[in-house]
Amino acid sequence: MVSEDEQQLHVMFLPYMAPGHMMPMVDIARLFAVNGVKSTIIVTAFNALRFKHIIDRDIRSGRRIALEILHFPYAEAGLPEGCENLSSTPTPEMSIKLFHAINLLQPRIEKLFREERPNCIVSDYLFPWTVKLSTELGIPRLAFSGSGFFNLCVAHNIELYKPHENIQSETETFTIPGLPDQVKITRSQLPDIVKTKTAFSAMFEVLKEAERKSFGVLMNSFYDLEPAYVDHHRKHTGIKTWNLGPVSLFNVDKEDKAARGDTISVSKHSCLSWLDSRKPDSVLYICFGSLTRFSKAQVTEIASALDASGHPFIWVVGKVIDANNNDEKKQEYWLPDYFEDSITKNDEGLIIRGWAPQVLLLEHPAIGGFLTHCGWNSILEGVSAGVPMVTWPIFAEQFYNEKLLTQVLNIGVPVGNETWKIWATQDSPLTDRNKIKNAVSAVMGGEDVAVEMRKRVNHLSKLAKKAVEEGGSSSNDLTTLIKDIRMYKETCEVENVR
Ligand code: UDP
Repeated sequence: MVSEDEQQLHVMFLPYMAPGHMMPMVDIARLFAVNGVKSTIIVTAFNALRFKHIIDRDIRSGRRIALEILHFPYAEAGLPEGCENLSSTPTPEMSIKLFHAINLLQPRIEKLFREERPNCIVSDYLFPWTVKLSTELGIPRLAFSGSGFFNLCVAHNIELYKPHENIQSETETFTIPGLPDQVKITRSQLPDIVKTKTAFSAMFEVLKEAERKSFGVLMNSFYDLEPAYVDHHRKHTGIKTWNLGPVSLFNVDKEDKAARGDTISVSKHSCLSWLDSRKPDSVLYICFGSLTRFSKAQVTEIASALDASGHPFIWVVGKVIDANNNDEKKQEYWLPDYFEDSITKNDEGLIIRGWAPQVLLLEHPAIGGFLTHCGWNSILEGVSAGVPMVTWPIFAEQFYNEKLLTQVLNIGVPVGNETWKIWATQDSPLTDRNKIKNAVSAVMGGEDVAVEMRKRVNHLSKLAKKAVEEGGSSSNDLTTLIKDIRMYKETCEVENVR
């Protein structure tokens, strides 16, 4: 007789060491556990500290979920102890060392899979070698993409039609052919890799090939957010996908929301009580994700724009390392001193140095706008909370995400950044204070356009919540996915008996 233990599916999750990849995958692993699947998350020691308390709580409530904690080879890669995540690498040089250390983990992770023999690998798409491993183990490999369908369709069509090759100027807008909507972009907003062969070109080919060879791709999105693009992608790529998002909505408990991703740098009570004292929809929330850092000059422009716009705000600031400053004590930089002094005096805003409880704050009724770098998680969190956005994309696929907000869904206003860059910590051409102020006013002001935008995003917020409820599209996709993994297991068992 087959024991209950053997019957239960065991899925192992391998997240990439960056908050925007790790946090949604941890949410997905927890979702699987709630749905009766034994989930194991592979993580390194310092990264585990970011969510161990949440997993411990799940275990106490009877879920079968575990962390498999590995030592991170920081010393072998020349990194300081504790530097195990892309968010702890303030320079491109350190990021490259981190990539190297992550590569060093491969044999240990492979060994772990061979010992554990789970029924499925959920792998970040940045680990293409898990395809070969899954074939060896005879189990499905699911890639976790971390972005949305709109981005995948835009990237696919740009590669297919190469519209940028007919454009001379970096700043002239052109339309991306073959998409369900008219989407415009400039050459300067395209990733380098699209325009020229770079050091990363071969790697991207490997990633794409791994995606094609996978059992399918897990998406953190929901059907009603981008229906035309879900259908377009399924029709034109033939890649199987399951839409499970927005997975951040799985954090219902206030404690989970507050503790998501890292230790917060403020007291959640002081933030919430400050927000309680504000009018509904009056506060601008500003956060550029877990990786982006701006130059001193850019931080000053943002500060001046906020000063001039007069809207109350919460601004999450990261530490800037100014390597050009010979005075070591002055290399670390957060904000212009004059600015912080004046806002504290006038109680106009709240500065969070470090990590904010983003999901918790966005949901507060006083938050009326979100100045975002257009990271996919932040976009989903803004949509889920029903907050219109001021868009300021920086790197990765963020310019594509911006177009979804500003040209398709019409729930965002661009500050007008024109230049894609490869590293989140690298300087960009300065976006001046007037541009920032104008975009903020367009979202936070009472004009008809802003009112309509708010209505649209509120409607999407309702659809997001519906998608993850029982019977909703994402909840149904999760049920189908678990059935698909079970069927794969059973088919393999039958074939083995033969
Ligand atoms: N985040 C947070 N507090 C912070 C900064 C970021 O909780 O102070 C979370 C945010 O809620 C989101 C993730 O970190 O879930 C950032 O992911 P995103 O895809 O938006 O951007 P990335 O950091 O990958 O550039």
